[in-house]
Amino acid sequence: MEYQPPAIPNHGDHNTIFELAHQVPLCGSADAHALSILYDIDSGTARCHVSSVLGAKYGLAVTNEQQVVSVTDRVLGHQVWYNRERSRKPQTFTQAEAQQDPTEGGQNCDFCQWQSLTAEDTFGRIERAHAVTASNLFKYCQPCHGLVLFKHHDPLSFHQQQLSDLLSCSQGWFQAAHRAHPEAVHPFFIWNCGARAGASQFHGHAQVTLSQVPFPACERLSTAAAAYASSQPGRTYYQDLIAAHRTAGLLTEAPGSSACALASLAPTKDMEVVVIGKSLESADFQHLLYVALRALIDKLGAATFNVGIFNIRVPGSDSAAPAASSQTSTDEVPVLARIVSRGKVSSRASDFGGLEVFGQASIGNTDPYGVYKALLASLSMYNQ
Ligand SMILES: [Zn+2]
Repeated sequence: MEYQPPAIPNHGDHNTIFELAHQVPLCGSADAHALSILYDIDSGTARCHVSSVLGAKYGLAVTNEQQVVSVTDRVLGHQVWYNRERSRKPQTFTQAEAQQDPTEGGQNCDFCQWQSLTAEDTFGRIERAHAVTASNLFKYCQPCHGLVLFKHHDPLSFHQQQLSDLLSCSQGWFQAAHRAHPEAVHPFFIWNCGARAGASQFHGHAQVTLSQVPFPACERLSTAAAAYASSQPGRTYYQDLIAAHRTAGLLTEAPGSSACALASLAPTKDMEVVVIGKSLESADFQHLLYVALRALIDKLGAATFNVGIFNIRVPGSDSAAPAASSQTSTDEVPVLARIVSRGKVSSRASDFGGLEVFGQASIGNTDPYGVYKALLASLSMYNQ
């Protein structure tokens, strides 16, 4: 039986994650069931003594109390910690605000000269008006590791059609790669924008891989979704992920659209937005991914970000099978894009410390309700 999310009254009147935490648990009503299953939300007060000198320097009370909220993703195991006071934390490792372009505006950019200065896959290139594929010259993945390049240079300046072409080229690449290597059934898409996000080239580009061995995060999502359906009869993980964020007032969904976007309660890194849709080539999915990216870049000032897209399907491949086995049909396993900011360009300090490396946890710098407001503002600007 297909799970229908319960009729959920509007709880979207929270303004901060701290307000939501004070109203948890919302259990007892069916509308909050998904939220309580997926997330463990905890809050408390941390205290310390502050000397008068230290208090005067940073404007802090001598008897210091800080409210801390943690959100634990009980399905995927990630955790995030929120504390507004951390915005006052002094940053001693600083650098120029602007992202440096080492190619003199594209004059020395290999990707601007993609015809001659990028490698070509053995099965050729996929090309659209605004994007084109190349083979990654220095591969970390086999048998297929490619690049999808914008045809323009500036990585933060792209319009809807340019992004749509990037995604459509990617889908074409996965299909061509699978035809050339039928034994490889695990597709993955990542986009590192900016040096802080792991990019080695300034020019906007994504990476596409098709492998025989799945990446652990892709496998973990498929396995967790299947286990979720087994433990929650009549429900699917994806429907409850949506329901949980609708309950929290962090979901954008438009009538008639097959896609939705949510400001994640438990972001892997700062400002995480998740876009859920039917496929890489779905117009609704492409539009919402564009809206979400413009929200981070234009509304929240993110100049460096990562995108990862999960559950990509390749015709003739059973790559979505682990998750599909628990769904009513393969078509119900949605494609899921995750976008995160990688911090301020002006900070020389990494946003990946021991907490992230070893703890599978992170610090929530931006309140998800702030991310949600930016999403709404971007939606109103670009609504179809
Ligand atoms: Zn370039």
